[in-house]
Amino acid sequence: MTQSPRSILVTGGARGIGRAIVEEFLAQGHKVAAASTSGKAPEGALGIACDVADAASVDAAFKAAEEAHGPVEVAVANAGITKDTLILRMSEADFDAVLDVNLKGAFNVAKRASKSMLRARHGRIIFIGSVVGLYGSPGQVNYAASKSGLVGIARSLTRELGGRNITANVVAPGFIDTEMTAVLPEDTVAGYKAAIPAGRLGGPAEVAAAVAFLASDAAGYISGAVLPVDGGLGMGH
Ligand code: NDP
Repeated sequence: MTQSPRSILVTGGARGIGRAIVEEFLAQGHKVAAASTSGKAPEGALGIACDVADAASVDAAFKAAEEAHGPVEVAVANAGITKDTLILRMSEADFDAVLDVNLKGAFNVAKRASKSMLRARHGRIIFIGSVVGLYGSPGQVNYAASKSGLVGIARSLTRELGGRNITANVVAPGFIDTEMTAVLPEDTVAGYKAAIPAGRLGGPAEVAAAVAFLASDAAGYISGAVLPVDGGLGMGH
């Protein structure tokens, strides 16, 4: 590690991409809290049960991380869900549930993180968006809306907090091999593979590497960016 250990909080750190992010930061020697519904976490991380859609629960998670590791210096809003269906079948509840976790959850995390980052005059906020936020995807009106909303949050935060040495960026994964995508029908997966210039799905560790870069001292002048990790699927964002 080329920088001092940071206090880092990752939401959705129990599984998939979030877990890979936690493992990458642990491998770099950082102090990592992983907040998720279950509270499970890789060995070496502090596991915290949390519902990101609930501001009080997010506040409690930050307090637990702060008690164990000090003020959070890097916050990764990764927790996310899907409730896919075509618009005529999409209920208001399907729309609200996805927006509550993916968008309001990220707002709750960013708001709570900003508090101590403003005091410290240093901070890194990283949102896990998606290629579909700007590319669009049939059956994902709710999900795509939640993910494109993160770009607006990151860019507004960049304008609000940029002068205080706080950066806010979006990492936009394409099709990554996790439990979220394991439920998709084979022909959907085959269709995606055909459309991805790299010709394969990505791995969670490939997303984690991009997140770790944006959290590093080397990325101090990058803010308001959308960094795709998608094998070329969404070029042109
Ligand atoms: P998974 O379904 O594998 O894991 C999701 C994680 O989020 C779990 O740890 C889960 O907790 C947690 N979580 C879900 N709801 C909440 C909540 N309300 N409060 C706290 N934690 C919650 O997803 P992925 O790893 O695939 O996805 C991670 C992120 O990456 C998501 O934001 C997703 O939209 C995004 N993404 C994924 C892509 C992919 O292809 N997989 C592509 C593009 C973006 P628990 O383990 O306790 O259930």
